[in-house]
Amino acid sequence: MLTSKPSLLDFTQKELMLLIKPSFRAKQIFGWLYHQYAEKFDDMLNIPKSLKEELEQKYVVNPMKIIRKEISEDGTIKYLFELQDGKTVEAVWLKMKDELRDENDVITQEAKYTICVSTQVGCKVGCTFCLTAKGGFTRDLTAGEIVAQVVNLKRDNNHKHNRKINIVYMGMGEPLDNFDNLAHAIEIFQENEGLAISGKRQTVSTSGLSNKIDKLGAMDLGVHIAISLHAVDDTLRTELIPMNKAHNINSIIEAVKRFPIDTRKRVMFEYLVIKDKNDDLGSAKKLVKLLSDIKAKVNLIYFNPYPGTEYKRPKKEDMIAFQEYLVKHGLLCTIRDSKGIDISAACGQLKEKTESER
Ligand code: SAH
Ligand code: SF4
Repeated sequence: MLTSKPSLLDFTQKELMLLIKPSFRAKQIFGWLYHQYAEKFDDMLNIPKSLKEELEQKYVVNPMKIIRKEISEDGTIKYLFELQDGKTVEAVWLKMKDELRDENDVITQEAKYTICVSTQVGCKVGCTFCLTAKGGFTRDLTAGEIVAQVVNLKRDNNHKHNRKINIVYMGMGEPLDNFDNLAHAIEIFQENEGLAISGKRQTVSTSGLSNKIDKLGAMDLGVHIAISLHAVDDTLRTELIPMNKAHNINSIIEAVKRFPIDTRKRVMFEYLVIKDKNDDLGSAKKLVKLLSDIKAKVNLIYFNPYPGTEYKRPKKEDMIAFQEYLVKHGLLCTIRDSKGIDISAACGQLKEKTESER
């Protein structure tokens, strides 16, 4: 059994100042973590050796290491991390917009990136269409392990601390089922003297634990939520997401209505389209009705098949017809272009790796 130490990435600056004295040293260390992306105590040049030795007894700097990196044709990079206890999780670096240059080859707009992070090793929710669910649930990630995914990806891509980045909690796991560590990670990301990633740039995707949606809303962290709806009636939704028995569609819609959102923004509803299950216009019609009194936008996702699944990817024309129906009836709707599909980095294609698969 490998022993794990807490990571320095587990703390806000204030918390670190309570742990490390004198507190100006804690501030310097915070800078090393988030502005210099230090990986180990040795990297922290202006910190006294005695303090580093003392801290090293109790803490690690980086709680994970990159053990595999796959680069897609479209620029998506999928990372496999090994945690201190030997478990693995994945995170994905997504290029959302290309860099733009003028006629003199001067950069006029920098490329824009989003990081998709995991919150658990495995998942308890057990959605029947999701590859992550197949391996069951192993454990929650600590706040530091959530934060470290972003720090490691920014470091690996030479992405300066002050360059803007978006975070989506859409990797492995159900973020709201690891509530305290998720909320803590959100706050650590928001630190002004750290990465300063505002709530607006963070989106929590959930399969719909309605009581936890309320709990997150009450914290008023300014984050966006995305609801993995996927079905318009409870029978089908329970087949796809067994937890729907406890948190049915109505309870989710009510929780969303209570969630504090920026008045200019909309709540995103993700709708995974599976051939012959929910890709018909009757479902589209019900969806319009269901979301009629919410400021919503819908993101249609093609089901991404994997070996052994009974579900099928929908036809492109059915996707477009579905989208056109929603738009015609006043619902904003986009179709998600699956990035990184050639390296299995797309939605629902992330999973824990067994020894032999690594
Ligand atoms: N647990 C959270 C976040 C992680 S899953 C949630 O369920 O929302 C991120 C998204 O990928 C979810 O919308 C999920 O439904 C979707 N997804 C899962 N399996 C998929 C698959 N095989 N093809 C396409 N999307 C999938
Ligand atoms: Fe868990 Fe989300 Fe996969 Fe469902 S879709 S099993 S909630 S990770």
